[in-house]
Amino acid sequence: MEALVTDNPRQMTLTDVPPPGEPGEGQLLLDVDAAGICGSDYGLYLGKHPLSNYPMIQGHEFCGTVRKLGPGCSGRVPVGHRVAVEPLIGCGECYPCSVGRYNCCTNLKLLGVHKPGGFQETLVVDEKLVHDVGDLPADIAAFAEPMTIALQAVKRAGVSNREQVYVIGAGPIGQAIILASLWHGARVAVSDLVEHRLERARSIGAELALNAKDTVAEKIAQWTDGRGPVVVIDATGVPAVIRSAIDIVAAAGRIVTVGISTSDVPLPIATMIRKELTIFASRNSMQMFPEAIRAVQHYRNEVAKLVTQRIGLSEVRDTIELALERPDIVEKAVVVFERAGD
Ligand SMILES: [Zn+2]
Ligand SMILES: [Zn+2]
Repeated sequence: MEALVTDNPRQMTLTDVPPPGEPGEGQLLLDVDAAGICGSDYGLYLGKHPLSNYPMIQGHEFCGTVRKLGPGCSGRVPVGHRVAVEPLIGCGECYPCSVGRYNCCTNLKLLGVHKPGGFQETLVVDEKLVHDVGDLPADIAAFAEPMTIALQAVKRAGVSNREQVYVIGAGPIGQAIILASLWHGARVAVSDLVEHRLERARSIGAELALNAKDTVAEKIAQWTDGRGPVVVIDATGVPAVIRSAIDIVAAAGRIVTVGISTSDVPLPIATMIRKELTIFASRNSMQMFPEAIRAVQHYRNEVAKLVTQRIGLSEVRDTIELALERPDIVEKAVVVFERAGD
């Protein structure tokens, strides 16, 4: 069977590898149907991600069809059903795992990062990691994972009905956060530098989509009658942008950081105390797949607008290179596996 192996920075080889063996205790065998390419895959491919190590089969946003159940499976998802795969494997022993927060396990393993992921035709995974997606098409079902990331951020902030949420950054995660905020009844504004992304954000339901080159702080203040948005969610990881969120957010507001940066952000303590802000970090997601799948089912037409490329395994490398150069052209690229008989 074919697997796409990242051998070295900027090098991916389509390789013929032996198919996985029989599923073991509590495991099942999947044919991969589709696998999204994530921003973090760009970093892994470039060798710039802290967790880059080679050789690696990337792909942590994927869905597949169950082909065989191993011994001891509950049969919760029968053979022939399509499932989204939760890529997180907590150690079960550290403090976060002991309180159910395996998403920030101190020894977390991720499919597609530490263990082989979805950029291959077939794999064996634990039954507890799979979630039935119903009738969702493969390229849309692969968006369940990014939706879990978005829901985690939205739930960290406790976004509720009619609250005004300002999302900074309209890449795929920013777009997913827009949908997750709408799903929780919020009104949403967003900003980005890329005009195409702003158009997509408007088309999926953002009330206000602002070019970051514009007078964003002023327009956001107008949108909120001068109060500021009660929730600001950063999906850029740009230190200056995160810093600006502290000025823009409403007093008594909440900020969530999802975008990753390796740089520090100076904290204006006086402003934070004057506003009595709450700042949440949000990492991966925990127990969010069932709700994410319901949200993707509800917003399937919107998600379809975000999938800008449907490609084969052999095109992943060129697509990542294109995405790095032209973020306006590539929003969410998805590898779709075509099989005879499907
Ligand atoms: Zn991802
Ligand atoms: Zn753990």
